[in-house]
Amino acid sequence: MLPEKTLAWGQSRSCIRELAEYGAKRKAEIGADKVYDFSLGNPSVPAPECVNRAVIDIVSDKTIPAHAYTTAAGLISLRQKLAENLNARYALKLSPELLYVTCGAAASLTISLRAVLLPGDEVVVIAPFFPEYRVFVEGAGGKLVVVPAAADFTVDIEAFDKAISSKTKAVIINSPNNPSGAVLSEKNIKDIAAVLKRHENANKSPIYLISDEPYREIVYDGADVPCTLQYYDDSIMCYSFSKSLSLPGERIGYIAVNDKMQDAALVYASVMGAGRAQGYVNPPSLFQRVIERCVGETSDISEYALNRKLLLDGLSSIGYEYAEPKGAFYLFMKALEPDAKAFSERAKKHELLLVPSDDFGCEGYVRISYCVSRSVIENSIPAFKALYEEYKTK
Ligand code: PLP
Repeated sequence: MLPEKTLAWGQSRSCIRELAEYGAKRKAEIGADKVYDFSLGNPSVPAPECVNRAVIDIVSDKTIPAHAYTTAAGLISLRQKLAENLNARYALKLSPELLYVTCGAAASLTISLRAVLLPGDEVVVIAPFFPEYRVFVEGAGGKLVVVPAAADFTVDIEAFDKAISSKTKAVIINSPNNPSGAVLSEKNIKDIAAVLKRHENANKSPIYLISDEPYREIVYDGADVPCTLQYYDDSIMCYSFSKSLSLPGERIGYIAVNDKMQDAALVYASVMGAGRAQGYVNPPSLFQRVIERCVGETSDISEYALNRKLLLDGLSSIGYEYAEPKGAFYLFMKALEPDAKAFSERAKKHELLLVPSDDFGCEGYVRISYCVSRSVIENSIPAFKALYEEYKTK
């Protein structure tokens, strides 16, 4: 007999992957330029030159053990650099002993959850949310509690407050958000912190705020992404270089445990144990060394800003509705009928691949990943127009 849950996760198809696979097939049939594939969040901008230079320098230097095991938590020299960078940007006092280098945000999240959850503990997430949260939480023995976001996709503080119970052990927030592009304001984060602090005091046990931040640097119009660690002591930052440095396949990120947390050293020890239990020790050593040389750098985010503008201008002039994204590279657009899956199916007839919102925990929207080449956006606008007219002339 096999474990029911792992079997079910392995057998169920992610609708994002399914759509991407359909897209690959369709491109082979009619030509890649005829399909407007907005399904995946794969960065379309190349990694910056510093990454290429670092790879070449490291592998060319025979004195560097580029492919050797490193310490389980990641190279101390890298953790030192990361701590210095975070401390300078956000006036924190993190030490490298509170940083744990991971195989990307997915590993940061699964390790953090496994480090703090006891069987049956509840984890609150805000919908719409990254669909893998369900698997990550349940895989760590927790129970997912979903709270719908406010109309602008920030956290609805009243609904959030009501969802917290004596069983709540952790909350996951994600800003800039996948799929809505929303960025939580300082006030919103302060309000979240105040609610959690009140419940912590009432229950006399910690509630961990896990901040999933792979899109931290991808923001527009000067939007500010407040650092959760400044506002709430029991917070854990989960970061990844997948998006900011366009390195999703290299699997590299980190966890930062807040130094202000009362049990920071114990939680960090549990993070180490959780990484060990999942076999996630020692993330790719070549890329640990690459990141050490590229801390503070990003890919050319201005490419996404241009895509965003083109898409927003095109869709708003047709008449589509959406909440303007302030960060990440996703647009969450209202479907033209209540059933987002049916809308996505009709969009396919116009060769538009839009991810229905149901898997993100909310209905009636589609996610458009605009991390694509400029021509895909430009050429897709007439298809969006035809789709719109099809509904409006019904
Ligand atoms: N969290 C969010 C919100 C994401 O969008 C993603 C990837 O798309 C991840 C986590 C996983 O990121 P990584 O590729 O670094 O594991």
